[in-house]
Amino acid sequence: MVERADIKSMSPEELRAFMRRLGEPEYRAGQVFRWLHSRGVTSFAAMTDLPKGLRARLEQEAVITELQVLERHVDPGDGTVKFLLSLADGEAVEAVLLRYRHGNAVCVSTQAGCRMGCVFCASTVGGVARNLTAGEMVEEVLVAQRHLWGQARGRVSHVVLMGIGEPLENYDNVLRFIRLIHEPSGLGISYRHVTLSTCGLVPEIRRLAGEGLPITLAVSLHAPNDELRTRLLPVARRYPIQELIAASSEYAERTGRRVTFEYALIDGVNDIPELARELARLLRGLLCHVNLIPLNPSGRGLRGSPPGRVRAFKEVLERFGVPVTVRRELGAGIEAACGQLRRRAASRSHM
Ligand code: SAH
Repeated sequence: MVERADIKSMSPEELRAFMRRLGEPEYRAGQVFRWLHSRGVTSFAAMTDLPKGLRARLEQEAVITELQVLERHVDPGDGTVKFLLSLADGEAVEAVLLRYRHGNAVCVSTQAGCRMGCVFCASTVGGVARNLTAGEMVEEVLVAQRHLWGQARGRVSHVVLMGIGEPLENYDNVLRFIRLIHEPSGLGISYRHVTLSTCGLVPEIRRLAGEGLPITLAVSLHAPNDELRTRLLPVARRYPIQELIAASSEYAERTGRRVTFEYALIDGVNDIPELARELARLLRGLLCHVNLIPLNPSGRGLRGSPPGRVRAFKEVLERFGVPVTVRRELGAGIEAACGQLRRRAASRSHM
């Protein structure tokens, strides 16, 4: 059997070409795109303004990527929703809907698992199974959007690529995904409301800087020097911190966008004031912002820094004029942190 086309991953131009091949007028592509990306339907039968014959033909030629919601946890306190989703081949990923006053953000997974090996992260424990397709990532956002339908201020406005996986290892699909969710006739998410987080793949950061997309780059730094950073993030052995900072600086210059540096504060590991001073020196003169995150428990024997130490670290950075915020914890009551649900599901089944 010929493999059916992955229609949700197609760009509008590709969808037009697809319709031409089927002998259909091009405007059908616009209709189908809206059904898939704006209304979020999961069957061709639901596309009621298409002729019946075309719907049947599409059924034969194409497949609509769908994710099964295995679990849905709503934090009664802050409204955070965490989804455990299964892909068609049985792999599982997580997506999280975060409710803010300024809008709704979806935290998207880009790979099933991760092979970066960061010592504090739950997502990397079983390695990586595969890259997600663009259509699967779009579907993560649509799962959250469907949850919001009918609610006041019920539109997904922000997307952060901070779920399971290393987005820059899945570069082409991730870029395709970002362009798809930006389409005005689809989800219409502004590039400025997209944040991509990376553990620091230098060549791909440089490549991203040249794409001409005004998305926010977040770099997982977690340490101000190579000695400490290589102990926490194995990827740091490949790219020395000076190269990472140079690439981040290039990103800021070429896009005009402030780079976010993420720094998870780990009790007794990277949270003393001397390291804050070193961090401030490292970032001097850079268009950036530091986001401090008290480490979430990930079942790997490390703890988040106590509030006093977080405050002290922040104050040092402020004294040196580095813009800094402490990330508010959302969804703590539902294990919304990084890879925890997937791990739990995996330990119940095959891993
Ligand atoms: N692979 C990408 C994106 C996914 S992780 C990256 O590394 O940036 C998103 C962010 O969560 C990263 O900054 C990551 O270092 C951080 N993170 C992972 N485990 C964490 C934990 N237990 N507590 C707090 N932050 C964590």
